[in-house]
Amino acid sequence: MGKESAVNRLPSLQALLEEESLDALLLTSPVARYYATDIFTTAGMVLITRQGGTFYTDFRYIEAARAHPSGYAAEMINHARPYREAVGEALARTRVKTLGFEQDTMTLTEYEALSRALPVDFVPAHKALHRRRRAKDAEELTRMEEAQRIAERGFLETLPLIRAGMTERALRAELIARLYRAGADQLSFDPIVVAGPGAARPHGEAGDRPIARGDFLIMDFGVVRRGYCSDTTRTVAVGTATDEMRRVYDIVLRAQRRGIEAARAGVTGREIDAAARDLIAEEGYGEHFGHGFGHCLGLEVHEPGGASPSEESPLPAGAVLSAEPGIYLPGRFGVRIEDVIVLTGTGARNLTALPKDLLVVG
Ligand code: ZN
Ligand code: ZN
Repeated sequence: MGKESAVNRLPSLQALLEEESLDALLLTSPVARYYATDIFTTAGMVLITRQGGTFYTDFRYIEAARAHPSGYAAEMINHARPYREAVGEALARTRVKTLGFEQDTMTLTEYEALSRALPVDFVPAHKALHRRRRAKDAEELTRMEEAQRIAERGFLETLPLIRAGMTERALRAELIARLYRAGADQLSFDPIVVAGPGAARPHGEAGDRPIARGDFLIMDFGVVRRGYCSDTTRTVAVGTATDEMRRVYDIVLRAQRRGIEAARAGVTGREIDAAARDLIAEEGYGEHFGHGFGHCLGLEVHEPGGASPSEESPLPAGAVLSAEPGIYLPGRFGVRIEDVIVLTGTGARNLTALPKDLLVVG
């Protein structure tokens, strides 16, 4: 069941060994295995040495692993030949001394069992792997745009259904159904649908309160397509909007544009965040923007790095991050606008195509 794939990350991961002075890298999390091989397996290990790559998996996935076009050898694991034995033989054969591993996703039990069985130095490689994953390649960007388009279609088909009197929970169900119908493989996360005073809590839960005329309604949603996540937030007014609501919406939108204008490869997440944060503070709402400007995303909807006051390292070309400032007035209303951007040498390209002018619906 071979499938043509443009994905061959073995050379890139072998270059990582060189850069990090590792003899080998052992990938144990489903996400990292997928990144390396483009095959999703619930069980498996991928070993990358300077000589090549091996995909260890069980009966359920061995056919897919064998058909892999990009140069990984496939080895079947079973009760008689467990992972630690197969990997141990390969490490001995290739004289591996230092083995990078994913310390942030391996459990202590797994670590103890593996480190007892394998006579090599285990070197934490989670950070280096995420640095590599942060700069997305062309195939990843294609998939992320595809995910964005699907989510946008689902959202646009949901908009005409919004009515005062409908509960947040009912609207969330309509949105979820349309995201799947538009082509979602999964959802990036359970959509956030909050209105009125509930929208003043950035990650509030949809509830049974009916959406009312004059509410701001925040919808934050994303889909997974071919492994990659989208993430979008739009705030719409239901029926009517006061001058204050329009003013706050406009500040958030200008702050988002300011942050996006500041974004390009080589700047730090802190600088991008500050561009938006300073504008909101100048307008007098500084204390009401309590979260970061954005987070990195890709195979996971939240990946390490992003744009917040604590991000001091420069972001690379190809980094994909959300641009999602907000203003939240407790007990009253909230506004958040979220796009997803990719950094280039000269600026940022917006992967989100939805319009952002204030929409009054229902
Ligand atoms: Zn979001
Ligand atoms: Zn987000």
